[in-house]
Amino acid sequence: MQYITLNNGLRMPQLGFGVWQVPDDQAQVSVETALEVGYRSIDTARIYANEEGTGRALAASGLPREELFVTTKLWNGDHGADSALRAFDASLERLGLDHVDLYLIHWPVPSQDAYVDTWRALERIAADGRATAVGVSNFTEKTLTRLLEETDLVPAVNQIELHPYFSQEAMRGLNAAHGIRTEAWSPLGQGKGLLDEPVLSRIGAKYGRSAAQVVLRWHLQTGNVVIPKSVTPSRIAENFDVFDFELAAEDMDAVGALDRGGRIGSDPDDM
Ligand code: NAD
Repeated sequence: MQYITLNNGLRMPQLGFGVWQVPDDQAQVSVETALEVGYRSIDTARIYANEEGTGRALAASGLPREELFVTTKLWNGDHGADSALRAFDASLERLGLDHVDLYLIHWPVPSQDAYVDTWRALERIAADGRATAVGVSNFTEKTLTRLLEETDLVPAVNQIELHPYFSQEAMRGLNAAHGIRTEAWSPLGQGKGLLDEPVLSRIGAKYGRSAAQVVLRWHLQTGNVVIPKSVTPSRIAENFDVFDFELAAEDMDAVGALDRGGRIGSDPDDM
């Protein structure tokens, strides 16, 4: 496992396991598999409705809490200072934990104009130590700039849609300029289309690796934190097996050339 260091000194595994769209019971099974394979970072969220299953898997693993890195996120209906504090307590309760490692605002939802107040609540949660680090997700140049101007604590992480079809060079640069780590969601482009790109199998053949492994390696070498999802045990293991090879510069460039500037998900400024 490779670690990166967040702006408050916390070490975060550069590769984690995402559980979006995984039903609660299945999440327990998949997280248990991931922990057995060696993952130590799990990315869940209130809206995924699987914090309980995730928490059960963490408890069942018997792993020391300090070896685990648990991320959850505040959902859009919980914006505002008081609601955010309540939402955070409820997430901790469902996870069965007394702290998380990272708590994120899931989407800024500019139309509600509440993310600055919400962030002040996260600043309090961080000051209390109930989230070791706090950060944001889906913040764009517009929303991140306002947050930085109007509040004190710089987010540790900005988790954004990022894969070879949408490589987010400008946003990665902006995050880095402020000491914010970029975490890639849907790092495999949700598997659709992207993993069938001939260039990925061509590069994979060179290293004896799959297209998914090539994409994950591209992320790691770009400096992104990645949280691929799978419920298939062989793929959970395959996605973790990316620390013993390195893409050459020309292969990094060839993967980067797949960028077409289009999102899979919603535009965060339009919500
Ligand atoms: P992903 O890019 O990780 O792709 C997952 C899909 O790719 C799987 O369902 C499967 O179909 C396929 N796949 C996975 N491993 C494979 C392999 N080795 N070979 C072939 N196909 C494979 O997509 P994701 O689940 O959207 O994103 C990952 C995580 O990011 C989520 O689980 C969640 O934790 C997080 N996320 C966050 C946000 C946000 O708004 N913050 C949004 C979406 C996802």
